[in-house]
Amino acid sequence: MTDPATSRRRFLTTAATAALGTTLGASALTACAASDQPGAESGGTQPPATVEPVGAPETEPAIRTGEQALQRLREGNDRFAANHALHTDEGTERRVAVSKSQHPFATVLGCVDSRVPIELVFDRGLGDLVVVRSAGGVLDHSVTGSLEFGIAELGTPLLVVLGHQRCGALDATIKAVDAKHSEAEGEIGYLVEALSPAVRQVAGHAGDRLANAVHANVDLVLAQLRKSTVIGPLEKAGKVKLVGAYYELDTGKVLFS
Ligand SMILES: [Zn+2]
Repeated sequence: MTDPATSRRRFLTTAATAALGTTLGASALTACAASDQPGAESGGTQPPATVEPVGAPETEPAIRTGEQALQRLREGNDRFAANHALHTDEGTERRVAVSKSQHPFATVLGCVDSRVPIELVFDRGLGDLVVVRSAGGVLDHSVTGSLEFGIAELGTPLLVVLGHQRCGALDATIKAVDAKHSEAEGEIGYLVEALSPAVRQVAGHAGDRLANAVHANVDLVLAQLRKSTVIGPLEKAGKVKLVGAYYELDTGKVLFS
């Protein structure tokens, strides 16, 4: 294979292994990233006759660009919001098909909110998306590293940062900012601190304060991710497309920026 995603994966395999090997374990990483070696874990049985293209089940064309990946997410969300979900790529056949290798077509950072399950709102299934979730989409080393892994190692040409309507994490942060302190215990205070810049940024703006803060936070997260030494250069090189988005609980629709 000579596509850019493959070269990118190969280029970064060594670095990613060094960076993640101590925590994930070399064998786990190999299994995770075995997209170029279908059948490698099969214990000597015959490998598949063909290598499945990125994000392409049998009935869908291969995904080569971020724009194509974005279109596939739009179509899936349209189905979901219209209550016509196909439950794409679920079931035994798909599970078996992706059991030895994976070719996800998008990486998505979302909130932990129980009402925003990423695969469901995009009507996608096994092997389609690299999903990373944290409250409010807060970045830390683990979250950022996981996103870098999805893009650089698994080769997804699209990264979506997905905020959502009535985000409890940002609502709690608004209350903490107004009270000029956080009463949150444990590490929740860390989340509030990380989300505070978005709340302060929209102070005095017209419109729904919480929605404004969610949108601002998506933009701040995207800006932070562009500083990543892995993601930034890949975006500049046109290898990955970064997009912000907002999920409406009321309608089921994802609005892309
Ligand atoms: Zn949320």
